[in-house]
Amino acid sequence: MGTFLGADLHCHSVFSDGVERPAALVKRALDAGLSAFALSDHDAVHGLPEFEEAAKGTGLVPVAGAELSTRCDGDDVHVLGLFLDPTEPLLVAKLAAMREARGRRGEAMVEKLASIGLPLDLAKIREVVGDGAFGRPHVARAMVEAGYVKDFDDAFQRYLTRGKPGYVPKPKWTLPEAIASIRKAGGLAVVAHPVWYTDPEKVVAQGCAAGLDGLETLHVDHNGAKEGEFARLAARWRLLVTAGSDFHAPGEGRAGVGARRLPEEAWSLLVKAAAKRRDESGRPPLDLSPR
Ligand code: AMP
Ligand code: FE
Ligand code: FE
Ligand code: ZN
Repeated sequence: MGTFLGADLHCHSVFSDGVERPAALVKRALDAGLSAFALSDHDAVHGLPEFEEAAKGTGLVPVAGAELSTRCDGDDVHVLGLFLDPTEPLLVAKLAAMREARGRRGEAMVEKLASIGLPLDLAKIREVVGDGAFGRPHVARAMVEAGYVKDFDDAFQRYLTRGKPGYVPKPKWTLPEAIASIRKAGGLAVVAHPVWYTDPEKVVAQGCAAGLDGLETLHVDHNGAKEGEFARLAARWRLLVTAGSDFHAPGEGRAGVGARRLPEEAWSLLVKAAAKRRDESGRPPLDLSPR
């Protein structure tokens, strides 16, 4: 490999609540000068073949990922599975069931909003979702388009977060279940954006008891002080560290692909751990060559 220019290991496409296809995201990664890049759609690995295909001939190292929503005491904890085998049958089946449940939950959200005088075109939203994972961002974008809210964030703040009138919970993995499924698929399990949780230390402790591998210390929602705090937390628990832009769509308030990037040394540790995990899982070997 030539000079390593960083890895962005968290990103969403149309296969969940992002707005771009994998090829467009790969282009963003190349424009950002990244060396490695992960697609990590919510409850979805079926976009990974298209992602892999899009990376061909680019020199990029594509990393197969997914982001699972778990419940850990009072917190909704997101767990990234990275370097996983997207053909692992149990994972594939469980994710398909989760997406079905998300579809029903999405309809329930639209019904709730209609009942308070904010009707949306469900068929149109369904068309946008396609065979991807239906998420709150789909509803938020439809609300912006309908003129019910001033922007994407406003939709969440007034209607779509817990306790607000459009909110409907969705089924979630338990933290140990998610970690076990990721490991079984030969992947590394990483707690995403720890700044989102009321007690990150507790999440990490419970995660480590279940076989957690890493912590996303570098994330667009973390400021410098938080990054330092989470780096120390990861070090205390001997966790690997990752970096992510969590890109979903342009113009929704977050910086773009490559906004957070993992340096070479941390990337090398991840690669070593991932290769070992893959060996132990009995899944096909991991290919981390530039495509
Ligand atoms: P869901 O998985 O359907 O519950 O939706 C969660 C997704 O909504 C997250 O992955 C983010 O993409 C987005 N999201 C959650 N909370 C907010 C928020 N307060 N503001 C903007 N986007 C959010
Ligand atoms: Fe999302
Ligand atoms: Fe997340
Ligand atoms: Zn995400």
